[in-house]
Amino acid sequence: MDTQKIVQNALAAGYVVPAFNIPHLPMMEPITRAVADEKSIGMIQVARLEWEKFEAESLEKVAELYGKYKKPGYTLLHLDHVPVVDEDHLEVDYLSIIRRALKAGYQSVMVDGSRLPLEGNIAATKAAAEIAHAAGVPIEAELGAVMGHETSQQSIPYEEIFAGKMGFTKVDEAVRFVKESGCDWLSVAVGSVHGAIADNLLDKKKPAAKLDIQRIAELRSALGIPLVLHGGSGIVESYITAGIKAGIAKINVGTELRQPYERALRETGSVEAAQESVYTRCRELIRDFLHTAGNAEILNK
Ligand SMILES: [Zn+2]
Repeated sequence: MDTQKIVQNALAAGYVVPAFNIPHLPMMEPITRAVADEKSIGMIQVARLEWEKFEAESLEKVAELYGKYKKPGYTLLHLDHVPVVDEDHLEVDYLSIIRRALKAGYQSVMVDGSRLPLEGNIAATKAAAEIAHAAGVPIEAELGAVMGHETSQQSIPYEEIFAGKMGFTKVDEAVRFVKESGCDWLSVAVGSVHGAIADNLLDKKKPAAKLDIQRIAELRSALGIPLVLHGGSGIVESYITAGIKAGIAKINVGTELRQPYERALRETGSVEAAQESVYTRCRELIRDFLHTAGNAEILNK
């Protein structure tokens, strides 16, 4: 399976490739099973903060488990957010994490320099892109501020952020960014919100988010590369459908599966029961929300 081709095919065919996060290792088995049972393409991904602040352990551990449960023809392994500067404002040795991921067999990687000014983000992304491309692997980058991880931004009401397009990816900056950094896919800030990482917010329902469809369409026509939507949980369905049509070719889903897992585990004490609730919810999302059931054959062509 050629990851770059699959995402390109999704963009051309008007589909999205869902990418499911693994904050808890037992989520691997039910998610890969759900993806294959729906005959969808689906990425399995882990972000640095999921092995630092949740229970994913390490990128190597996730890759090892993926090797055990992967479904050839349906699943792909992606490295989500490797921040250059993290959510606690600390510098990260991001290039060595990306090198480790490539060695462990990740089929695509993400570098997140979005906390840096434009110049710094370009330079950091370019350095990561060179390493990924030398290994024949596509790289995702982020431009703009997808709200959520930083607690400081959570005090601003969502409607205010959306109305003011606060932190949204600007088209002219994006054109320069993609050209100079060499990234293959771009995570854009167009209204979605990252899942909470603060303890008191972990269980809360996310705010119903909207998307700036016009901005997505403008970015797509100016850039011509697949756009990625982070914070896919909690977006109103009609916006998802329109966003995919406008140019979103990969969508990250974290909270929608993490919460059922944690809730079932808390209520029943059984990992198996928690896995089954992830399986059921994942199939629902693929079938009824993202509408990617059955697309594996088309996207693999
Ligand atoms: Zn993200």
